[in-house]
Amino acid sequence: MEGVEPDRIADRRSAPLEMGPEEFRALGYRLVDRVAEFLGSLPSRPVSPRESPREVRAILGDCPLPERGTAAEQLLEEAARLLMDHSLFNGHPRFMGFITSPAAPLGALGELLAAAVNPNCGGWVLSPMASEIEAQTIRWIAEMIGYPRAAGGVLVTGGTMANFVGFLAARKAKADWDLRTRGLASHDGRPLRLYASTETHTWIHKAVDLFGLGLDSIAWISADSDLRLNTTELRERIRADKAKGELPFMVIGTAGTVSTGAIDPLPEIAAIAREHGLWFHVDGAYGGFAAVLPDAPAGLRGLSEADSVAVDPHKWLYAPLEAGCALVRDRHALRGAFTQHTPAYYRMLQEEEALNFFEYGPENSRGFRALKIWLALRQVGREGYARMIAEDIHLAETLHELATADPELQAFRQGLSISTFRYVPRDLEPGTEKVEAYLNQLNGELLFRLQRSGEAFLTNAVIDGAFLLRACIVNFRTSLADIRALPGIITRLGREVDAALRPASLRSHRTTAEKSSS
Ligand SMILES: *Cc1c(COP(=O)(O)O)cnc(C)c1O
Repeated sequence: MEGVEPDRIADRRSAPLEMGPEEFRALGYRLVDRVAEFLGSLPSRPVSPRESPREVRAILGDCPLPERGTAAEQLLEEAARLLMDHSLFNGHPRFMGFITSPAAPLGALGELLAAAVNPNCGGWVLSPMASEIEAQTIRWIAEMIGYPRAAGGVLVTGGTMANFVGFLAARKAKADWDLRTRGLASHDGRPLRLYASTETHTWIHKAVDLFGLGLDSIAWISADSDLRLNTTELRERIRADKAKGELPFMVIGTAGTVSTGAIDPLPEIAAIAREHGLWFHVDGAYGGFAAVLPDAPAGLRGLSEADSVAVDPHKWLYAPLEAGCALVRDRHALRGAFTQHTPAYYRMLQEEEALNFFEYGPENSRGFRALKIWLALRQVGREGYARMIAEDIHLAETLHELATADPELQAFRQGLSISTFRYVPRDLEPGTEKVEAYLNQLNGELLFRLQRSGEAFLTNAVIDGAFLLRACIVNFRTSLADIRALPGIITRLGREVDAALRPASLRSHRTTAEKSSS
């Protein structure tokens, strides 16, 4: 082969990627110093980079694939600078957007250790201790949320994948024909049907599309005024579909919806599913871990009755991305969804009692996602998590009270650690079509400016057509002071945006109001 010099590989390879222990130590210490400094400086940095995609792309530059190498020291320095100066920091105390948490610092160190040992957690023989640590982590997660310890489980990249795993286990378990051999095409024209509320996270759209059921397979059940699945409608719909000869197979409940943190009436849904022989899956990606609270919301208890549950350690367990976890009550049903035959080249993995995770999920080669979770669970225990989660919820409740009391803010919903509200200028009366349209525009622009300001990071929800600001606190760094600062920041920006944006037709309104108040 061209480029091969036998001398260079004769006794000891001198591969360009190799690094001696001394160099690794020096680079590692320097990087750890840099990261420690970064973590300490977070509160004084802007939450978001205030740069457009075009600007960020320009800073990175667009050079072609490097032909030759660059010194590692220089590269680590450059990468640290790029990331620390041009990122959105979900580890910042004032990050309250989406459902994304700061990474536990111990988890970051765990990732370094995991990558250094680099076990392949697809097969036990490739990752003896790591596979056992993953199994233990899964058992602890089950215990934490009140699910059977003996359940099957697997760590995946996130909530979406964990929900996919539950979905696939349900489909395989409930199809009354040989799905594996004959595929989806052969259910005699009877449509498979699953039930979910209109507040369900969009993983479900991906699932029915990717796995061949199609969007029409979802029977959308409306949400009640608290944005929880309407069980009366669920019952009626299942009955009607069965009467038509369709194949209902699965009901999905959400423990903590993305928009408002609502918890579906899980015990009641469980009973309906049982009555009709359907698989009951709970999407607890956001709220599942709140079941650890001694005074957990009553509805969460139904989670223990589910056939499968998805939770997201990279949310309320504060694990560095990525980590999702699927739990399936009947571990044989989980394995049955993913394992068919073992190819000849995997014979070595069939040792007695060896737990091969590739048989329990969609992935084959798998990283050591469990370590960061396992370390954090041991670092703070059940007690530490219960405290952090309770505090996050308390902060959201406090924010909700502040918004309620503020004459320029209108509070909407508060569920788990989510609070939704909007800015309403004092002189505008919400309710008419015209004012509502303007308030949506105003709050949309306000949110954009808030995100660009770097002062705090919120995202949005839409309830009954109203565009709302939404704070979701899954952040062990957020303090009461951060929460108390929010209304002032938002009303200040709100006034600025209102002054610039209000159409003349709504302005006259204001003049009248100002006159009458003076
Ligand atoms: C976050 C979330 C998901 C998706 O999880 P990812 O980790 O982003 O894939 C699904 N459902 C709910 C309720 C969520 O909060």
